[in-house]
Amino acid sequence: MYADLHIKRDVYDTEEHQMLRETVRDYVNQHVLPYREEWEEQSCCSREAWLKAGELGLLNISSSEKYGGGGLDFSFSALLIEEMSKMGPDSPGISMHSDIVAPYIEQYGTEEQKMHYLPKMASGELIGSLGMTEPSTGSDLQAIKTNAVDKGDYWLLNGSKTFITIGYSSDFTLVACKTRPGTEKEGVSLLLVDASLDGFTKGKPFKKLGLKTSDTCELFFEDVKVPKNRLLGQEGMGFIMMMTELPRERLTIALQAIGSAEGAIEEVIKYTSQRTAFKQPIAGFQNTQFKVTEAAMKLQLNQCFVDKCTQLLQEHKLTAEQASIAKCTSTDMQFEVLDQCLQLHGGYGFMWEYQICRMFADSRVSRIYGGTNEIMKVMVSRKLFNDYYAELKAKRKARKMAMSN
Ligand SMILES: Cc1cc2nc3c(=O)[nH]c(=O)nc-3n(C[C@H](O)[C@H](O)[C@H](O)COP(=O)(O)OP(=O)(O)OC[C@H]3O[C@@H](n4cnc5c(N)ncnc54)[C@H](O)[C@@H]3O)c2cc1C
Repeated sequence: MYADLHIKRDVYDTEEHQMLRETVRDYVNQHVLPYREEWEEQSCCSREAWLKAGELGLLNISSSEKYGGGGLDFSFSALLIEEMSKMGPDSPGISMHSDIVAPYIEQYGTEEQKMHYLPKMASGELIGSLGMTEPSTGSDLQAIKTNAVDKGDYWLLNGSKTFITIGYSSDFTLVACKTRPGTEKEGVSLLLVDASLDGFTKGKPFKKLGLKTSDTCELFFEDVKVPKNRLLGQEGMGFIMMMTELPRERLTIALQAIGSAEGAIEEVIKYTSQRTAFKQPIAGFQNTQFKVTEAAMKLQLNQCFVDKCTQLLQEHKLTAEQASIAKCTSTDMQFEVLDQCLQLHGGYGFMWEYQICRMFADSRVSRIYGGTNEIMKVMVSRKLFNDYYAELKAKRKARKMAMSN
């Protein structure tokens, strides 16, 4: 709509990207939007929506073809995430399933695990979720209490998880737990836990402020016997695996923020051009033009940084700090832009039937999940100060050596 403003987005440059964009739009228009209200009521979308996404090749698009995926690079996932967020509805939770859970399995899984989970994830027959957060701890992941004791033939899993995206719909959850509870190094590990196992139960989908068409729920594990071959990667390496994979998760949230801000700006331009006050379109007031322009400027700046991060992720060079900056700044930008766009809708902006109202509600969680924006700042500031102190220490050491020579 305001293409001339954009710096050309090299990351989405090919004809294949354009084709994917059109497929996503058709999918959302035909298989998501018509069911939106029904899913909002149920706080959960249908399995058919997943199967349709699988049929259209929209699941696991950047997983290897050997495991049923699209075999495309991450820029295709990025485009899909942005386009879906631009159109509004948050369901089905494709990015959690395809861009967070699937890469863990592809990266760290055994051949048997990959063959068992990935092809069915790509078709939508299996839905995967990720369980890190617990009722008593979210930001401080080291403090999780869920544990799995080695019983020879199986892991005996006990504990609970909360706020799990698509937890209710999912057929299995990648669960972070302690495999050496009570010892000095408690050994955080990751287990692939099938929903069919005895002792694994789920709470009802939560009623939420936003993201109402996808489910978020609690998971409970009571003496669940998890087969030994469902350990992902090495025992005790779960924390390192999570720290390695979290930048990707944070980038997906940044991409959602970019898509949603772009959608909101398009929406507000349309609305303010049609709505009149004092015998002229609202869009005719300089305040409206300036506010929308400020929003577009903020979006453009963030988009450049996020595009760069997408490129870095593809080159396996994205650092935890860069991903934290992308997540924090783009979701702050999203919140400001969405708030401003809602304001320009006047009272209609407060009405659920208006797209901007739903988008605003959905956007609120972006600054909370995937690690809060405060935690993003903790990570970046730690790096800033640690680098400064390391430099100071090196200078002192060099000076000492020079003096002793
Ligand atoms: C809709 C939704 C979907 C989610 N999906 C998932 C999922 O799929 N899987 C999953 O595992 N989790 C999921 N989460 C959980 C989410 O990641 C956590 O809510 C988030 O990490 C914050 O944890 P908490 O809620 O326990 O908040 P707390 O950790 O209790 O934090 C409360 C407040 O204290 C602040 N705070 C905490 N520590 C510090 C510090 N060191 N310095 C400064 N401030 C601090 C926080 O920033 C926050 O403002 C989801 C959450 C929501 C709401």
